[in-house]
Amino acid sequence: MKDIEIGPIRPPSESESLLIRVTRGCHWNKCYFCGLYKSMKFSMRPIEETIADIEKQATLYQGKKFKSCFLQDGDALVLKTDYLLRILEALNKCFPDLEYITSYARADSITRKSPAELKELRQAGLNHLYCGMETCSDRILQLINKGFNADTVVKSGCMAKEAGMILSEFILLGIGGKEFSEENAVQTAKALNIIQPDFIRVHATGIKPESKLGEFVRDGSFTLQSEEEIVIEQKLFLQRLQEMDSYYVNEHIINLLLEVRGNLQTEKQEMLSAIDRFLSLSPDEKLLFTIGRRLNIFFLLDDLKKPELHKKAEESLRKILSKSPDVDFAALCNYIRQSQI
Ligand code: SF4
Repeated sequence: MKDIEIGPIRPPSESESLLIRVTRGCHWNKCYFCGLYKSMKFSMRPIEETIADIEKQATLYQGKKFKSCFLQDGDALVLKTDYLLRILEALNKCFPDLEYITSYARADSITRKSPAELKELRQAGLNHLYCGMETCSDRILQLINKGFNADTVVKSGCMAKEAGMILSEFILLGIGGKEFSEENAVQTAKALNIIQPDFIRVHATGIKPESKLGEFVRDGSFTLQSEEEIVIEQKLFLQRLQEMDSYYVNEHIINLLLEVRGNLQTEKQEMLSAIDRFLSLSPDEKLLFTIGRRLNIFFLLDDLKKPELHKKAEESLRKILSKSPDVDFAALCNYIRQSQI
């Protein structure tokens, strides 16, 4: 049905979900690394319009059993609790098979609700929040203009868990640049050990040239890390995370080492071993893997053992070096990463 309004973005894990747009864009829209909703003016959709969309989708998908529904766009929790409860009621009525209703949620939108309101939302079916904490270093949160501090991140995460919600926290490796790499790893792990989210979703940072952070790179106040330095940061982050029952999710092509994923309680050592396997490669093989990964020739470290892929990566690297012998690989890899967001 052509008059159903669908927003542009959902988390990768919601690819099979029913999408219901409750707001347009992001009401904050000021994070210095983010261009997701830059060209979009924020608005809340009138409740009658959203409920009409739910009913139209129920007609459109008659007979299809959705297990999950994602509320779009950038932060549905900014909406008044009453509004959300009416949406949840309409969803449950039209799609009785839903097991999960999920949404992005900013930390400060969560803490603006009372514990009782969060529980009410949870009981009405909103049971999984995706929170972009990015980091839990106050200095980096300020640097990227996130609009909340580390205390709010921790408080919001604990509130969501106490309300019985499933909690996913998004983390950006490399978001502190060379300047705050260690701080990013240590402070973020410290906060996550307190929150104990169900999922820790890790992304490598890709800085777009037109973003404010891109300006910082040009004026020299933010120094891009090499791929190896981001992996070293990831190792420290992982080492500092407790062996808790949280799943370390690595689901985006933007990440260099796609094999680093698993349950922190049972698979932390395997994840660290995969990182060490990369770090112990010779400098030439490390560079070859990095370039091969970024060009999607390799996907896993084991691909290095495949002669035809190895040769293809070598040829690509040779071409890059013959065109630009002094290429800045950190900048080149950042360029590729930011194009994958
Ligand atoms: S990162 Fe999230 S909160 Fe920040 S501007 Fe982008 S959508 Fe909004």
